[in-house]
Amino acid sequence: MAKCIFIDTTRCTACRGCQVACKQWHDHEAVPTLQTGTHQNPPDLTPHNFKLVRFSEHKIDGRVHWLFFPEQCRHCLQPACKDTADMYVEGAIVVDEATGIVICTEKTKELTKEQCDEIIDSCPYNIPRRNEKTNELTKCDMCIDRVQAGLIPMCVKTCVAAMSFGEREDMLKVAEQHLERVKKTFPEAELLDAEDLGVVYLVSHPREMYHKYAQREIRPLNRADFLADLTRPFRKALG
Ligand code: SF4
Ligand code: SF4
Repeated sequence: MAKCIFIDTTRCTACRGCQVACKQWHDHEAVPTLQTGTHQNPPDLTPHNFKLVRFSEHKIDGRVHWLFFPEQCRHCLQPACKDTADMYVEGAIVVDEATGIVICTEKTKELTKEQCDEIIDSCPYNIPRRNEKTNELTKCDMCIDRVQAGLIPMCVKTCVAAMSFGEREDMLKVAEQHLERVKKTFPEAELLDAEDLGVVYLVSHPREMYHKYAQREIRPLNRADFLADLTRPFRKALG
């Protein structure tokens, strides 16, 4: 049965325990980083950071508010990354049948840099990252080794309040219960693209107030197809 992580961002305090736990479990090296004027650190997802608490700062009713968003792969039910990867190397990105978890495999090493870029471009949430040293595409694997052993993902285990894990149907019910409660204070609260994803976020404010990729960005699957679409009318006119 499909597994799901539910993240109630209204409960996230940006402690970043999830970020650290993810790095520890995957044995990811520490990477030097810079203070760029925000507490979001590192500034972006990397091959060594599958989870990142994003910070958005807003002035609401005269007061400064931080909106936190613990970013990771959404484990899409119809993953565009896999569709794009399949055009080049079958099996580079696979979906685990038992859990619905979307995984980058060792076969991503067979992809060229350009093909990796195309896969990254096709992800509506800008998630995968290419490791330049190993040429592997990387991203959150929902801790499939833990899940297959009957454990919960490491970030969920570490989080004290905002994250839950379980069967997708159960998580959607939990998400609806949280939404009903949060809407009493924040009428614009919503679940982000819940019908299509294996990682469901509850946000209290309009999605555009969070980081750019909190909103789904549908991109052309393939640059060649995109260019072909663009030039089709001219090619038709020319016969
Ligand atoms: Fe693939 Fe992006 Fe969906 Fe993750 S969020 S499964 S990388 S398309
Ligand atoms: Fe990292 Fe596992 Fe959480 Fe994914 S589910 S962000 S791999 S700890």
